[in-house]
Amino acid sequence: MSELAYPYEAPASQALFDRAAAVTPGGVNSPVRAFRAVGGTPRFMVSGTGPYLTDADGREYVDLVCSWGPMILGHAHPEVIAAVQEAVARGTSFGTPAEGEVALAEAMVERVAPLEEVRLVSSGTEATMSAIRLARGFTRRTKVIKFAGCYHGHVDSLLAAAGSGVATFALPDTPGVTGAQASDTIVLPYNDLEAVHAAFAAHPGEIACVITEASPGNMGVVPPLPGFNQGLKDACAANGALFVSDEVMTGFRTSRAGWYGVEGVVPDLMTFGKVMGGGFPAAAFGGRADVMAHLAPAGPVYQAGTLSGNPVATAAGLAQLRLLDDAAYETVNAVSARIQSLVTEVLAKEGVAHTVQTASNMFSVFFTDRPVRDYEDAKAQESFRFTAFFHSLLSNGVYLPPSSFESWFVSTAHDERAVERIADALPAAARAAAEATA
Ligand code: PLP
Repeated sequence: MSELAYPYEAPASQALFDRAAAVTPGGVNSPVRAFRAVGGTPRFMVSGTGPYLTDADGREYVDLVCSWGPMILGHAHPEVIAAVQEAVARGTSFGTPAEGEVALAEAMVERVAPLEEVRLVSSGTEATMSAIRLARGFTRRTKVIKFAGCYHGHVDSLLAAAGSGVATFALPDTPGVTGAQASDTIVLPYNDLEAVHAAFAAHPGEIACVITEASPGNMGVVPPLPGFNQGLKDACAANGALFVSDEVMTGFRTSRAGWYGVEGVVPDLMTFGKVMGGGFPAAAFGGRADVMAHLAPAGPVYQAGTLSGNPVATAAGLAQLRLLDDAAYETVNAVSARIQSLVTEVLAKEGVAHTVQTASNMFSVFFTDRPVRDYEDAKAQESFRFTAFFHSLLSNGVYLPPSSFESWFVSTAHDERAVERIADALPAAARAAAEATA
């Protein structure tokens, strides 16, 4: 990249990044934050209000990441902050049951019909890890089907990447994941029901569950083709396996009842995180009561957590869910549609090949003119155009996810002023994308 790729400097962020690099691997606590896919200095944020983030250099950005999904009401929503302050004043952790966790579980069960019982945990990774363990304990089987390009957190067995071909045993793609863990994971191409049927046929009586993102957002937004999720459910039911729908990203974001509310396919188990924690570390898994009854202390499958159901996190999550009524989703969907059309307009004007894909208010822009149906399609885009597009927007005060394989997120707080700031920044970004070279 030329100097032009980073049109201004961020000295305070760079100084913090240098300090961080001395005490934290790669200077960050979660890899994508390091900007390695796009280059440049990761912005260290000091505050967030509504649709805006302010960095250590005092620059304000319209935030299209929303903490990777949770901040669906924008940053520092006054009612969420008030609920947190009220909770924190009563103590930060009891290590006992408390009413807040019951209320949050009730609110979730009330919104999502297949969720008969729910167990709270602290991260999406913990939720999917526990759901997989429970599926294995319930079915007394070992193998798990997942799809290439779907991310379910950094659970060892779910980090196995795709080998190509149907029912290929995956190899560990990160040191530290054993061959045994990876070989129990069957990685298949997304949106390919034939591959799923072939895998069940090749492993009769061995597959504990199929886990899928309800509508994937971790290879960019790649929604399920019509009938795909129902096909997974049916294949699981026919073969004695459980259908696990990972709604960590889509849950309470894509509708009042998440992606289940959009599509209506009934999973056996579901996982949640992000929105339900209101910006705090709270997540959950749940589903069929007869399956959940296998969980300790009711049943033999062990699962626990010192901070599970933390009173501050549950207060934040509950406050956020209470504010997420139908009108809130209409607002988020409308602002999302508006930004999508602005992006399409400027990229088309500059003749940049692109495809905007959506799942309710989640969306992403692929730099290709072909529809993206799986991970291979997503990888075939011209990512170098995204890099130029990203840096142009960043320099003009719009903060996108620093990777072309991520969903963009908006909130109810993205008002006319925020949208106008995006609209003002887009033409230069589209030109930068048009002029970019590999
Ligand atoms: N599942 C999905 C679909 C996710 O998008 C993520 C995180 O982005 C996770 C699981 C893991 O959640 P966490 O980062 O809270 O561990």
